[in-house]
Amino acid sequence: MKIVILGGGPGGYVAAIRAAQLGAEVTLIEKNRLGGTCLNVGCVPTKVLLQTAEMIEQFKDSERFGITANDFSLNWGQLMSRKNDVVNKLVEGVEGLLISNGIKLINGYGKFENENSIIITSEDDKEETIEFDSAVIATGSAPIIVPIKGVEYEGVITSDEALSFNEVPEKMVIIGGGVIGIEFAEAYSSFNTNITLIEMADSILPTMDKEIGLIIKEKLSLKGIKIIENGRVSEIGKTNNLTVTVEFDGEKQYIDADKVLMAVGRKPVTDTIGLDKINIKTNRGKIIVDSKMRTNIKNIYAVGDCIGGIMLAHVASSEGIVAAETIMNMKSQIDFKTIPSAVYIKPEIASVGLSEEEAIRKGVKIKIGKFPLTANGKSQIMNEDGFVKIVADINTQEILGVQIVGPRATEIIGEAALAIRLEATVDELITTIHAHPTVSESLMEAANSVFNHAIHAHV
Ligand code: NAD
Repeated sequence: MKIVILGGGPGGYVAAIRAAQLGAEVTLIEKNRLGGTCLNVGCVPTKVLLQTAEMIEQFKDSERFGITANDFSLNWGQLMSRKNDVVNKLVEGVEGLLISNGIKLINGYGKFENENSIIITSEDDKEETIEFDSAVIATGSAPIIVPIKGVEYEGVITSDEALSFNEVPEKMVIIGGGVIGIEFAEAYSSFNTNITLIEMADSILPTMDKEIGLIIKEKLSLKGIKIIENGRVSEIGKTNNLTVTVEFDGEKQYIDADKVLMAVGRKPVTDTIGLDKINIKTNRGKIIVDSKMRTNIKNIYAVGDCIGGIMLAHVASSEGIVAAETIMNMKSQIDFKTIPSAVYIKPEIASVGLSEEEAIRKGVKIKIGKFPLTANGKSQIMNEDGFVKIVADINTQEILGVQIVGPRATEIIGEAALAIRLEATVDELITTIHAHPTVSESLMEAANSVFNHAIHAHV
């Protein structure tokens, strides 16, 4: 079986490795560097910045922990070089894995010619045609630019550029209060950039549990980030600096900035890969697939951001595995209930399964268990707070969703995802003994709270 994979991000490279493991002859085509958005300009480099931001906040608070840190400052050059080192090491790691799995790598731009061949143009304009039995499209996504007056000015940027400034900006306006907007606001405010975050919905993180949006708003405001909700950016002007015109509460405000970051979502990259030649069906640029990642063309599959849906690296990778296994005649599918989402600010946010509001909207009868981290020993040791919330089915007591705001949330959510995957009941979580002192104990306590008998809660 000859398989061609178009795109070397977490969707494409994982599909390639899985297909090779199953005995396929695999060729992976990538126009840029391996690793896609996630490794090069997404998950990985942002988390390197956020790691340094977290350490800065710890230094600021060090007296509380019995440390007098006389002085410290940010060495931007060193941070940029560390970010590049981490990215390079991981990209080289992916390359090593592909090579050791016997996958042929081609650096160039792939375009479908017909249902069984693809033409690859290299940087020096040489063309090569590859024949295949099956193909997996994993071409990812690109940031959306809102079509407002002034977006063409230098200094109006996307997350790609916000990871590689020559120096820390003094004032930055971030348009969009979703995950990208929040993570960059968190990092750059720790680097002393004056941040204004503009969200057009009535709360930041509008797709998450309402309570989470409120807590994060309070935390970010305490850091000095100015948050404008229900805001509409109508124009960006330029004299020496940029001026963002924002309308909210019936007034207009003009905000001065040296950088304006567009963080209003991402769109699939599918318009220049020859889909018209093979009549692949799309919906507003998103390739339409079934639960096995099959497009309307029987030997062509698509995974990751290019199909829209949940644009997360771990979702792309799972879809890549399903595509590879389906091509190789295995039964394979994703359990969409168990997809965690994670936001790496302080406090961390993580969730999996149904939120309270989603469950109510779907008419599911639920019971909520909530445990505050002020009552959790490890969180107090770390001087952090937050909560763990469990959404359970009122009749079967099956765990349907978990939301966590607090330290280690992005790690603990894995346990919650497993509980949902195993259709665990609240009681099964309660009777799973958790190590003490850990933050994860609060998952067990939130489960106890479903029955109003958390041990460490006042009645
Ligand atoms: P998003 O969809 O999460 O958030 C975009 C936000 O911008 C929304 O809140 C929306 O209401 C707002 N918005 C849209 N147009 C606007 C306008 N004109 N003015 C003001 N606000 C406007 O998109 P994102 O934050 O750009 O992230 C893109 C993708 O990358 C998402 O799928 C996200 O999940 C993923 N991502 C995930 C992580 C993570 O998991 N930690 C980190 C970064 C990105």
